[in-house]
Amino acid sequence: MTENTAIQEFSTHLRGKLIQLGDPEYDEARKVYNGMIDKRPQFIVRCVDVADVMQAVNFARDQKLLLAVRGGGHSVPGMGTSEGGLVIDLSLMNGIRVDPDEKTVRVEGGCTWGAVDHATHAFGMATTGGVIASTGVGGLTLGGGSGYLTRKHGLSIDNLLEADMVLADGSYVTVNEKSHEDLFWAVRGGGGNFGVVTSFLFKLHPVSIDYAGPMLWSLDQIKPVMQWYREFALAAPEDLYGFFAFLQVPPGAPFPEEYHNQKMGGVLWCYLGDPDKADKVFDPIRNLTPKPAIDLVGPIPHPALQSMFDPLYPPGEQWYIKADFINEIPDEAIDLHIKYARELPTPTSGMHLYPIDGAAHKVKKDATAWSFREANWSQVIIGVDPDPANKEKITDWVRAYHEAIHPYSAGGAYINFLMDEGDERIRATYRENYDRLAEIKQKYDPTNLFRINQNIKPVAM
Ligand code: FAD
Repeated sequence: MTENTAIQEFSTHLRGKLIQLGDPEYDEARKVYNGMIDKRPQFIVRCVDVADVMQAVNFARDQKLLLAVRGGGHSVPGMGTSEGGLVIDLSLMNGIRVDPDEKTVRVEGGCTWGAVDHATHAFGMATTGGVIASTGVGGLTLGGGSGYLTRKHGLSIDNLLEADMVLADGSYVTVNEKSHEDLFWAVRGGGGNFGVVTSFLFKLHPVSIDYAGPMLWSLDQIKPVMQWYREFALAAPEDLYGFFAFLQVPPGAPFPEEYHNQKMGGVLWCYLGDPDKADKVFDPIRNLTPKPAIDLVGPIPHPALQSMFDPLYPPGEQWYIKADFINEIPDEAIDLHIKYARELPTPTSGMHLYPIDGAAHKVKKDATAWSFREANWSQVIIGVDPDPANKEKITDWVRAYHEAIHPYSAGGAYINFLMDEGDERIRATYRENYDRLAEIKQKYDPTNLFRINQNIKPVAM
């Protein structure tokens, strides 16, 4: 069969859309969230169902095309696209079905967290997703998934009950505790290495109105606050989650005008307990010495909290990040954080310390692919700006900050916050789980068809 006939035949069997280089929608379709990524795949396949995904996997494999799978397209190193290859774009596979009796939600592989939160909120429930609504359920979950619910309800993978997958040989399987247990273990933290997940089934929890928001202090006052936070955050009840952040205050409501554009530090709280007890929980924090300069903590519907940062981080901006797992935050590390916070290069750059303790610590290291169950925080330094001219400025700041702070890390980093950093960092993150992952990869994807990800090589390769 000639190449043209093969393409023709492939396109005839699709119900979704095949977009090729030269098509009018091609330039829009090839974009991913990070504006720094400028790859040109030969084919973009907008799948609408499992049958399309099977066809696309078979076509990419048979034609020896470099295959990428795109969920929400948020991967900062651009792992939702491929240079010269084929992209399976799942964005049209976005169906969601809540089962209020079973307290579960079935989510198709191309959904974003904003869509899931919207659907489950109607039933007064939620599961652990990320802190930006436009992030894909696919990539976030397969890498682990942390968010405001992590201390109380675990990582996203701890709430995953089942996944439907198309494997490298084009076959379709359902993986859960009873079927393909090895694959079910591997997809809970092993990323997109094992196949295309066409749907996820998550456990839901009663979550509706949170008591949440930022409390911020000036950088001159932040050292004792961070010293207090490092103890308090770990000892707090699991109902209380607070991620520490250094940021520049956005120049608009609801932030008081006197603080607009100031570099500050503080905590983004989310309290999930009894709303009548919220004041009792926050009063001692509000009365800390020094007192917070900005306090916007109050009742907020869960989907509103989940999408609070979206206007600050639209798609298409320049992104560069570096990350580490953290166990402790010694005074010397605090001094370094404050030094680099004073040098924040652009208004939306920053540093976040996401708690991954509480319920996430209760799962054993070898129960899922996520090995760093003892780590307390997932730290990420983010360089962001709309202007491509500032690419170097943000990259240089992130790299210098990371180089300085990395010695205080626990080793390894959340794989969803890694750039293209090579095999050593991936192995350092999976540690003793790596060999088992490589064996499962050998069994289900021996030719490494799914390799645009934080790649786990088949054991024989
Ligand atoms: P994509 O770029 O589409 O995919 C990323 C990887 O996952 C690729 O290797 C892809 O092949 C694979 N993949 C995606 N979907 C599937 C699927 N259905 N089947 C098989 N493989 C698939 N992480 C958190 O844990 N918590 C957060 O709060 C959080 N906030 C973030 C905010 C922003 C603004 C950004 C940029 C990232 C954030 N992240 C967060 C990191 C995020 O988890 C990763 O960027 C993740 O890869 C995004 O998933 P995606 O589907 O949008 O990405």
